[in-house]
Amino acid sequence: MVSIGVFSALTDPVVAIDGPVASGKSSVGKAAARIVGLRFLDTGIMYRAVTWLALHRGIAPTDAGAVAELAERCRMELPQEDEIGTSILVDGEPLGDELVTAAVDSNVSAVSAVPAVRVELVKQQRDIARSGGMVMAGRDIGSVVLPEADLKLYIDAAPEERARRRHSQIISTDPGVPYEQVLADTLRRDRMDMERADSPLVIAADAVVMRTDGMDFDQTVSVVVEAIRSVAGSGRAMEQRR
Ligand code: C5P
Repeated sequence: MVSIGVFSALTDPVVAIDGPVASGKSSVGKAAARIVGLRFLDTGIMYRAVTWLALHRGIAPTDAGAVAELAERCRMELPQEDEIGTSILVDGEPLGDELVTAAVDSNVSAVSAVPAVRVELVKQQRDIARSGGMVMAGRDIGSVVLPEADLKLYIDAAPEERARRRHSQIISTDPGVPYEQVLADTLRRDRMDMERADSPLVIAADAVVMRTDGMDFDQTVSVVVEAIRSVAGSGRAMEQRR
């Protein structure tokens, strides 16, 4: 495992939340982070940003060399005023809603399967987490990006439920996209994320698994908040990183 250095404070835990497409990891993670006063980063928006830039500049998302160069050339940061991570600064320019479209959805798995893209974005994700006090959501956070996280959660739900959630999100920017298309895309993206050679979606050995089917959003957030509070100040992080 690559060492990611020592986080700043015992009382500022680093929390990894992984899970498949639309499992609720981002909305739950974001709400929980806000309650406990931690920063939040949804790493999916970084892969989406590279995909959006490729589509915007006429680069084929399947052109591994060109998308890797794109990722290496841009610097991504959390905007100062957006500590809950709904947008990302790409070379100082904020990107947000444009990253949640069907066109980006359809192409992001190809981009995120390129090893050189992952190397670059993982480096930038670790830079963002270095100062501690962070909830980070994605596919490989507990397994690859922050293997020494104080708490690892894996949030899951049935594909049909996840596709329903994603559909209601997508029609606000892309009205007219049918549910069936979103379900098919969800299943296809799950398969690509789980079967890719580099950093596939896996449940980290020390992760706590939560299924959110039929679970009330507020209840889920409360469970996550309690889990975060239970590791804050526990001293586990510092002992392990010494
Ligand atoms: O979470 P979201 O659906 O926005 O992520 C978009 C895509 O980015 C995923 O389908 C996955 O291919 C990729 N991703 C990844 N590793 C992460 C986060 C997202 O490969 N840590």
